[in-house]
Amino acid sequence: MTQLSVVVPVFNEEESLPELTQWISRVMKEHGFSYEVILVNDGSTDRSWEVIHRLSQENPNLKGLNFTRNFGKSAALDAGFRRAVGEVVITMDADLQDSPDEIPGLYRMVAIDGLDVVSGWKKERHDPISKTIPSKFFNGVTRWISGIQLHDFNCGLKAYKNKVVKNIHVYGEMHRYIPLLSKWNGFGKIGEKVVQHQPRKYGYSKFGLERFLNGFLDLITVSFVHRYKKKPMHFFGLLGSASFLTGFLITAWLIFEKIYGLSKGLKVREIVDQPLFFLALVALIIGVQLFVTGFIAELMTSNQSKEIEYKIDEEVNFDF
Ligand code: UDP
Ligand code: MG
Repeated sequence: MTQLSVVVPVFNEEESLPELTQWISRVMKEHGFSYEVILVNDGSTDRSWEVIHRLSQENPNLKGLNFTRNFGKSAALDAGFRRAVGEVVITMDADLQDSPDEIPGLYRMVAIDGLDVVSGWKKERHDPISKTIPSKFFNGVTRWISGIQLHDFNCGLKAYKNKVVKNIHVYGEMHRYIPLLSKWNGFGKIGEKVVQHQPRKYGYSKFGLERFLNGFLDLITVSFVHRYKKKPMHFFGLLGSASFLTGFLITAWLIFEKIYGLSKGLKVREIVDQPLFFLALVALIIGVQLFVTGFIAELMTSNQSKEIEYKIDEEVNFDF
C-alpha cells in the first residue's frame, strides 16, 4: 500500500526538477513513507521531459507522464489524479515555491485527522503585488460564492484523500476550484494549513492576468453547471415562466383597458397599435421558447459527462 502520491504539473521547469525531486525523496525517506511522485509534463518546450525521463531511471518512485502539447495545469493535475495510487494525494508546483517539508503535516491532517481536503495557505506570500492583489479579490469572491472559508484557494500545495481525486474531474482553469468540486461531490471536510512559500527560483510565472480572468469566467460556468446541469428546466423554465407571466399581465391589462376604453369611445385599433401590445406579444413568445429550450436541454443532458480533453503520448515507471 502506497501512502503518498505527489502530483506535480510541469511546464518549462527543467532547472528546478532535480532539486525538487531530491528534496521530496529526502523528506519521504526521513519519515519512512512509501510514495510515488507523478511528474506530468504539460507540453514543455524546454528539456523538462528529458530531465523527468533521466530522473525516473535513477529513482523508481518517480513516474512521468508526457502530454502531446500544453493542455494547462488543470489537465495535468487531472492526469495525475487518474493514476495516483497513494492513500493521500498531494499536489505541488514544480517551481520550488512550495516546500516538500510540508508533506508530513499535510499527510497527517488527511490520513489521521480524517479531512477530505487540506488546502495550503501562503500566509506570507512571496509573489509580486500584481499577483497578490487580484488574488485577494478572487479569494473573497470565491469564499462568498462557495461558502467555503479558505484564505487561499489557488495554493498549489494541497492534500486529498485518494477517493476525493478519483471522484472529481479538473478541466479548463478549474484547478483553482478543486475545493468547490470536492464539496459539491460530497467531500465537505475541508481544512487549511499555513505553509511556507518561496519566491520563484528559476524561470518565470505562467499565470498572468489573462488566465486569471479566464479563471473567473470558469467560476460562473462551474457554479451554473453545478446547480443546473442535471436540471436545466429549473433555470430556463423559471425564466420562461417569468417572461410568459409578464406578457400575460400586460395582455390582461390591455384587455381591461380595452373594455374600459371602448365604453369611453376608444377604437380597437388605438389599443392594438400600442407599443405595450407588442411588448406583451414578444414576452409571451420568448416565454414559450425559453420553456421549450429548457425542456429540450433537460432531455439532452440527462446522461452526459465531461470528456477528458488531454492526450498522453509517453510514460515512464507506470506498471499499469
Ligand atoms: N503549469 C502547468 N501548465 C501550464 C502552466 C503552469 O503545468 O500551462 C505548472 C507550472 O509548471 C507550475 C505550476 O503549474 O508547476 C504553477 O505555475 P506557476 O508557478 O507559473 O504559477 P504561479 O506560482 O506564478 O501562480
Ligand atoms: Mg509558481
